[in-house]
Amino acid sequence: PKYVYDFTEGNKDLKDLLGGKGANLAEMTNLGLPVPPGFTITSEACRGYLREGGLPDGLAEEVETHLEALEKGMGKRLGAAEDPLLVSVRSGAKYSMPGMMETVLNIGLNDESVQGLAAQAGDERFAWDSYRRLIQMFGKTVLGLEGELFEAAIDDVKRRKGVVSDLDLDAADFRGLVDTYKGIVREQTGGDFPSDPREQMRQAVQAVFDSWNAPRAIIYRRQERIPDDLGTAVNIVAMVFGNLGMESGTGVAFTRDPGSGQQGVYGDYLQNAQGEDVVAGIRNTVPLQRLGEIDPESYRRLLEIMKTLEDHYRDLCDIEFTIERGKLWMLQTRVGKRTAAAAFRIATQLVDQGLIDLDEAVGRVSGDQLAQLMFPRFDAGAGRPLIAKGMNASPGAAVGRAVFSTERAKELAAEGEDVILVRRETTPDDLAGMIAARGVLTSRGGKTSHAAVVARGMGKTCVCGAEELEVDAKGRRFTAPGGVTVEEGDVISIDGATGEVFLGEVPVVASPVVEYFEGTRTGKGTDRERDELVQAVDRLMRHADERRRMAVRANADTPEDAARARRFGAQGIGLCRTEHMFLGDRRKLVEDLILAESPEERRAALDALEPLQKSDFVGIFEAMDGLPVTIRLIDPPLHEFLPDLTALSVKLALAGDDATPRDRRLLGAVKRLHEQNPMLGLRGVRLGLVIPGLFTMQVRAIAEAVAERRAAGGDPRAEIMIPLVSAVQELEGVRDDAEKILAETGVEALIGTMIEVPRAALTAGQIAEAARFFSFGTNDLTQMTWGFSRDDVEAAFFSRYLDLGIFGVSPFETIDRSGVGRLMRLAVEEGRASRPDIKLGICGEHGGDPESVHFCHEIGLDYVSCSPFRVPVARLEAGRAAL
Ligand code: ADP
Ligand code: MG
Ligand code: MG
Repeated sequence: PKYVYDFTEGNKDLKDLLGGKGANLAEMTNLGLPVPPGFTITSEACRGYLREGGLPDGLAEEVETHLEALEKGMGKRLGAAEDPLLVSVRSGAKYSMPGMMETVLNIGLNDESVQGLAAQAGDERFAWDSYRRLIQMFGKTVLGLEGELFEAAIDDVKRRKGVVSDLDLDAADFRGLVDTYKGIVREQTGGDFPSDPREQMRQAVQAVFDSWNAPRAIIYRRQERIPDDLGTAVNIVAMVFGNLGMESGTGVAFTRDPGSGQQGVYGDYLQNAQGEDVVAGIRNTVPLQRLGEIDPESYRRLLEIMKTLEDHYRDLCDIEFTIERGKLWMLQTRVGKRTAAAAFRIATQLVDQGLIDLDEAVGRVSGDQLAQLMFPRFDAGAGRPLIAKGMNASPGAAVGRAVFSTERAKELAAEGEDVILVRRETTPDDLAGMIAARGVLTSRGGKTSHAAVVARGMGKTCVCGAEELEVDAKGRRFTAPGGVTVEEGDVISIDGATGEVFLGEVPVVASPVVEYFEGTRTGKGTDRERDELVQAVDRLMRHADERRRMAVRANADTPEDAARARRFGAQGIGLCRTEHMFLGDRRKLVEDLILAESPEERRAALDALEPLQKSDFVGIFEAMDGLPVTIRLIDPPLHEFLPDLTALSVKLALAGDDATPRDRRLLGAVKRLHEQNPMLGLRGVRLGLVIPGLFTMQVRAIAEAVAERRAAGGDPRAEIMIPLVSAVQELEGVRDDAEKILAETGVEALIGTMIEVPRAALTAGQIAEAARFFSFGTNDLTQMTWGFSRDDVEAAFFSRYLDLGIFGVSPFETIDRSGVGRLMRLAVEEGRASRPDIKLGICGEHGGDPESVHFCHEIGLDYVSCSPFRVPVARLEAGRAAL
C-alpha cells in the first residue's frame, strides 16, 4: 500500500487515512492557501506499526523519497549545516483528541545547523531559542522525560537574570540552556540527544505512533467513544517561524464565536512566539483584532482566508496560523467544535447565507444538543465563584448543601434540604444517597465511573473526576485549590453540562428552549441571543417534523403529563400506565380485590374500582383529544399493592390477640403472593388470566370513558395494550373478552400487545394474528434478553463492563442492535408478514434516545414513544433519521 501522501495529493474526505489534520492541510494546499509544504504518513502505517511492533516494510523508503522531494522543493536539506530545512512532526488522528497526542517542532537542528539557521535568519537568539525548544519537546514527547525538568531549568535562568519573560532572554542564555538541556537528556536517559536530523525525525515519527496507546489517550478514547483501532497519521511539515522577532507571531482564530455562533473575528495572537506558546499560556496573548494594528496586511489576508474557508467548508472553522516576518502561513484548520446553542444558530445562519439547505442544517444539530439546551442552566450573569472543574458526566444545574455520606444525604433530604453528595468516588453503597441528592460530585473517575453511569441512568446532575478537590469524607469536608474549604452543610452549585463547581448558590434560569416548547416564549423578545436561538430551534424543528416518517408519542399517565407532552409536539400517547391509578386511597380497594373469597366479593371490589378508573381515562382522552392513546392494562405483580411482609408481621406481633381479622388475612395474602423473582412472576397478561374480571373491569372503564367523551363532543381514540405476552394463546382469551365488552358498549378500540418477552418476538408472526399493534417494551426486552435485572445491575457492575469494553454504552440507554435489536427486527418482519397493516411502535426508555430512534426508523417502526420531556429530541432525531 501507499503509506505517504504529499499535501498536494490528499483532500478533506480522506480523514480515515490521513487523519483530520493531514486531510485538511491537503485541502487547504489544494485551495491555493499558503500552507508550508509537507506530507502525511497514513494511519494505516501506524496500524501496521502497532500491530507488528516495527515500521512496516517499505515505509522508511517512501518517507525518504518524500523528504527528498520536499528538500528539492525548498532548495534546502534537512538539518544541513549551511541553510537547514527544519520540519515539524505532528500527530493527527481521524477524530481530534486535544492534547492527547504528540508534536515535535524544529526537527533538524544540531550544533552545526543551529549556526546555519542563525546566519540565514541573521538572528542568533532565534536560532538558539529554536534549538532549545527542539530538545525540550523531543525530550518530553520522544524520550518521555518530565517537562518540569526543562521548565525548572529555564525558570532558573530567568531567576538568576532577574527577568520574568522569556522575551528578556538573549542568544547566550538560550545557548546556555541548550547545554543544560543536553545534560538533562544525558543524565535521565544515559544517552545523548540525537544530532542526526534524519534520526531525530525517525524517532519522532515512532513516538507519535506510540502515543496512540499512551494511557491518557486510551482513557480519552473510551470517554469519547472513539474506537481503539484507528491509529494516527503523522504529518511532516516544513517549519515556518513565528519566533523571528516582533514582526512574527502565532495565533488561533475561529470564523465565528464557538460559544454563541455570532459571526465576527474571534481568536488570540502572540508576537514572537512558536505555536505551543499560545496554549501553554507563558505570555499573555492579545485578542485577534489587535493584529489589525500590529500587521494590517497579514490581518487583511487572514480575514480573507477565513472567509474562503467558511465558504468552502460551509461551516465554522477553527484555524492555527503563524506569521513569519510579515508572511502569513496556515498550519491547521478543521470544522470547529461549538456549544449546543451555537450549533443551532450556526446551522440556520448558514442556511440564510445560502451555504447549506435545511436538510443539511437539520443534519448538523443533534438530539443530544437539543437535550442540553432543555436543561435549566446557571445564570451566566450571576457572580459565579468557580472553585473547581471536573468532567461533565450528567447534565443539569444542581444547588444544595454538601454532604459526604449516604446517611447524611438521606437525613438532610428527609428534612427537606437539597443536598449534593460529594465523594471521592461512589460505590453501589452510595445508591440511596445518590437518589436522595440533587446532584453528585466526585473527585475521581471518568465518564464511565460508577457515579457517572448511575447518575445518567437516573437523570441526575453529576460532575465527576474533579481532581483538584481533596475529599475528606471522615472529616466531612473537601478542599479546593486556593485554600477553599467546604464543610458539610455548606452550599455548593454544580453544572453537569460544563463540569463546573461553584461555591454558594448560583441562581438557576429556565431554558428558553423549554419556554418556547411550552409556548411561553417566542423568538421576538428583547434578548437577541436567546431570540435567535429560539428562532433557530423553531425552524429546524419544523423542518425535522416535515421530514420524519415516524410519529412521536409520549409516555404519560396523567392528564397534566399528556397536556405537556402535547405542547411538546407529541402525536398521542404510546404508553399510559394504569398501575399508579391503584395507589393512594385506592390501595384499600385493591386489597379488597386480593382478599375476596367469593365471586360476589370480587365483583364488589371491581365495581368500586371501575368508576375511578373511568374518570382517570376521561381526563387523559380529553387532553389527547383526536390523538391515539395507548392504555396498558395493569402490569406489576399484585403484591406491590400490599403492605410489606416484615412491617405487617411486626404490626401483628405487637397487636397480639387484638390483631384485626383483616390484617391476619392480609398477612396470609402477602405470604401467598410473595415471589422470589417478581419481575418474572405473576404480572401482566398472567394477572388478567388468573384474576377473573380484573382486565375486563379496565376495558369496561376505557369503553365507558370513550363513550362519555364522545357524548361530550370529543374525539377519543383508545388503544388497549396487553403487557407481558409470550404466546398468542395468552392474548386470544383476553382479546375475546375485551372485544365482547367493546361490542356491548358500541365503542371501537384497537387491541394490541407489547413485545417485551423474547418469546413474543420469536413468535411475532403468530401473535400478530391476535394483535392489531405491537409496542416494543424495550426495558423488559433488554432485561430478559441479557438476563440483567434492570434495578440492580447498573449500580452493581455496569461501570466495570464499560471499562472492559463489553459494551460501549449501557443497553438500557441505547438499544443493543445486535442482540435486542435483532429480536425487534425479526418481530417487525414476521408481524408485518402475518398482518400487513399492523401498527408498530416502541414505548421503552429507548424511544427518547437518539441512537435508538435511528434504529427504530431503520427497522420501519411507525412511531416512537418517550417521556414528555424527550419528545422534542425524538422529533428531531426522527427527522434526522429520515434525511
Ligand atoms: P496540536 O494537535 O496539539 O494542535 P499541532 O501539530 O497542531 O499540535 O502543533 C502544535 C503547535 O505547533 C501548533 O500551534 C502548530 O500551529 C505549531 N506548528 C506545527 N507545525 C508547525 C510548523 N511546521 N511550523 C510552525 N509551527 C508549527
Ligand atoms: Mg494544532
Ligand atoms: Mg414491561
